[in-house]
Amino acid sequence: TVRVRFAPSPTGPLHIGGVRTALFNYLFAKKHNGTFILRIEDTDQNRYVEGAEQYIVDALNWCNIPFDEGPGKNEKFGPYRQSERKDIYADYAKQLIDSGHAYYAFDTAEELDFHRKDHEAKGKTFIYNWHNREKLTNSISLSKENVEKKLANGVDYVIRFKSPKDETLHLTDIIRGYIKIDTNILDDKVLFKSDGMPTYHLANIVDDHLMEITHVIRGEEWLPSLALHQQLYTAFGWNAPEFAHLPLILKPTGKGKLSKRDGDKMGFPVFPLEWVDPQTKDVSKGYKEEGYFAESVVNFLALLGWNPGTEQEIFSLHELVNAFELERVHKAGARFDPEKIKWFNHHYMQEQNNTQLAELFKAQHSSKLNSIDIGYIALVIGLIKERATFVSDFWELSHYFFKAPETYDEKAVKKAFKDDTAALMIALVDIIQHVSEFTAMNLQTQIKNWITSKEIGFGKVMMPLRLALVGALQGPDVFEIMFMIGKTETINRIEKAIN
Ligand code: GLU
Repeated sequence: TVRVRFAPSPTGPLHIGGVRTALFNYLFAKKHNGTFILRIEDTDQNRYVEGAEQYIVDALNWCNIPFDEGPGKNEKFGPYRQSERKDIYADYAKQLIDSGHAYYAFDTAEELDFHRKDHEAKGKTFIYNWHNREKLTNSISLSKENVEKKLANGVDYVIRFKSPKDETLHLTDIIRGYIKIDTNILDDKVLFKSDGMPTYHLANIVDDHLMEITHVIRGEEWLPSLALHQQLYTAFGWNAPEFAHLPLILKPTGKGKLSKRDGDKMGFPVFPLEWVDPQTKDVSKGYKEEGYFAESVVNFLALLGWNPGTEQEIFSLHELVNAFELERVHKAGARFDPEKIKWFNHHYMQEQNNTQLAELFKAQHSSKLNSIDIGYIALVIGLIKERATFVSDFWELSHYFFKAPETYDEKAVKKAFKDDTAALMIALVDIIQHVSEFTAMNLQTQIKNWITSKEIGFGKVMMPLRLALVGALQGPDVFEIMFMIGKTETINRIEKAIN
């Protein structure tokens, strides 16, 4: 059975790209009736940021893609925080030493720095591997006794993977296909440090194995690590999971990787939820707080690097689960288009429940809407939301349902108000006064009949009428507006407009 994991490091708020990685893992898991796991990779204590883990959990929940197993939930392979698994990794590092796949290295920071600079001076890059590891006096060339003596004396060390010389690795990635790597270009990556902490590579492989992960779905930035990871599985004698590296998310211009600065510059969020930096107290905007629906974010992200092979763009989460295939994920980077997500939001706005929208609207404009019946607000929203992308557009689109216009659009007045307008409006008021039953339908029939029978011309009546009710030549059906605000208010507004 399929078991996948989303394995973020809690070094800050989850970037929108991280949400996409989580989403693809979720979709793949659900498609195959598998398990979606959250594992917190917090072995690097220096980069740990307070609140980041909670943020990740909140973001997944808001997107409606909760994990099945993870910190505090179905912990049968737990703990799911690597900092709580510290004791596990040392034994595995030791195992690799014993089997000759890894070795202790005691090089000091100064020594390494010296080699780096020495190489640079000669126009070369220092790669710690077969090129030089035999010559570095503080590592692989040490005798067993010497190593033990140093360990006993508490000398700082790291454990490095012994990258083979002159071998060819054959890797496969579900998205990228076959990849051939010459091991001579790989360096001897650090797996474990004398502070007792594993590096990302060791902890990641050990945990994926112990948690019985079947598919590793992660960002393209981890593709360079694939060779090492594959070798670690072989060295341990374990079956490797399958790998799928997701394409980069590119700037709106299509050039380069999307960064927080692009969002700041162009005014769109790159985080799902608002984030307050615990140190600087700087606030970063989130999609949620900016008025995006979770469905919009999810639908938008799903199409960032994946397509169903059809023209369909609107997908519910359920439809995504059914349609999703890793084989259809693109290799090429996916351009982030902040306008497209607005398009989705406009779409999902139409699908929201009007009463729920009314609650949100009321919360945003409590002073103006406090005393107004929620049912009335919901009806108004039903009439105007076709023109709205965000709840924050509502007031601009609907204020005249709640209070009479105070000003009239000047250009519209010139266009709509003629010499005979006042007389026409007085006659109109009389009709409205006597409409048999005050419904939008009756108003429409009776007013239209009057206009036709008197051969007045629709614009001559409808334009000033709309202007009187709305203050501008915009808005939904005039008869609906009259019905909503009621007879008395309708008449008051017309009379006020001609006086
Ligand atoms: N902790 C890594 C990250 O922050 C996980 C990479 C992986 O999925 O292997 O993205």
